[in-house]
Amino acid sequence: MHILVTNDDGVTAPGLLALARALRQVATVTVVAPDRNWSASGHVKTMHRPLRVWPTQIADGFPALATDGAPSDCVALAILGLVESPIEAVVSGINPHANLGHDVTYSGTVTAAMEAAISGLPGLAVSLDSPEGHPGPLDYTAAAEVAARLTRQILARPMPRGLLLNLNVPYGPLEAMRGIALTRQGLRVYRDALVRRDDPRGRPYYWIGGEAPTGVGEPDTDIGAVAAGMVSITPLQLDLTAHELLPEIERWGLGLGI
Ligand code: MN
Repeated sequence: MHILVTNDDGVTAPGLLALARALRQVATVTVVAPDRNWSASGHVKTMHRPLRVWPTQIADGFPALATDGAPSDCVALAILGLVESPIEAVVSGINPHANLGHDVTYSGTVTAAMEAAISGLPGLAVSLDSPEGHPGPLDYTAAAEVAARLTRQILARPMPRGLLLNLNVPYGPLEAMRGIALTRQGLRVYRDALVRRDDPRGRPYYWIGGEAPTGVGEPDTDIGAVAAGMVSITPLQLDLTAHELLPEIERWGLGLGI
């Protein structure tokens, strides 16, 4: 089996190193990752400039390819022929922060897995629910182990086409985890605030800042699960149609004179 490993924090990120090391116990691993941090870049397709690729290594000396493209570009490049031997699954991460609720459309980690789903391959996004303001380097050991075990399960069965899994792992040792929850997306509560300042030449610039997001911790959601110390697995698909609202919109009678 052959897995593509990528991330949105860049090819030098410790989360990518931990993930690649753990997945090498499961399958053949190819690493194609961005040369810089693309966190919160959303689902990108680079169309208006060329993409460059060059060989590099991750910190343990394992070979990797770095690109100046986004995480989703890395997946597209690899699947479209940059990587010669066929890829059977794409695993993205490990992101140093959780990707919960609405985060999934912002997240480069998750949108890399979305790109896999578009190409008909199973995608897995892996994020660590690290504590806010954690001092020193994060320990990715447990999250990497959970990701490896889940990847083994994914590779062992035919996955429905178009499905990706969003895995969020609580921070701490494996023994401290309170089990696995299959979840739906919860409701993220963003506390964004616009910061306006003047640059050294007196011209204004803007920065979207504010406090870290919180969320509504309903127990069957990703937010509720990680808050309860559980590993959260949310199955996602790219069909964003508001299926439940279709009958209501139908009643609007939108003839539009056409
Ligand atoms: Mn990130």
